Amino acid sequence: MRTAVYPGTFDPITNGHIDIIARSAKLFDRVIVALAVNSAKKTLFTEEERLALAVEALRGYENVEVKRASGLLVEFVEGEGAMAIIRGLRAVTDFEYEMQMALMNRKMREEISTIFMMPHERYTYLNSTIIRELSRYGADVSEFVPPCVQAALRRRQEELRGA
Ligand code: ADP
Repeated sequence: MRTAVYPGTFDPITNGHIDIIARSAKLFDRVIVALAVNSAKKTLFTEEERLALAVEALRGYENVEVKRASGLLVEFVEGEGAMAIIRGLRAVTDFEYEMQMALMNRKMREEISTIFMMPHERYTYLNSTIIRELSRYGADVSEFVPPCVQAALRRRQEELRGA
């Protein structure tokens, strides 16, 4: 059983993330989407909301699970009996940060490899920050996120406007 872990904040999950997950699910027996829950990042969606949206968006993938991950990533990966960490590489700008993390993780656990994947080019400029910005101004994000995320973004913007 070959298991890979795909970690991230997923605030919210986008079609770019799902593209990487779909590719990984073909290569590994089991893919665990690890939702970072203790990051210092201030998120638009709560931990429960991010988890529920990822679960809903990934319903169709039988070998994909979504789990909360706190603490050191390599410890989570080890605990799941996984052998690989999946990360998406969109552009050169991702490279430096990703390389540092991959090398640091390898220094801590030599047996765990980081695998980088490129999404379809239509998603290379996509990130959760841009989606949050677009939705703040009422732009149509249907091309970039699954329907459940689109609905959640609309609700959140209405709440924020009403507050
Ligand atoms: P983080 O907070 O660690 O950056 P994210 O949830 O933003 O986590 O992203 C998780 C992973 O998904 C990262 O490897 C990131 O590079 C990748 N990713 C994000 N958006 C896309 C995209 N549009 N296409 C491919 N990979 C992506």
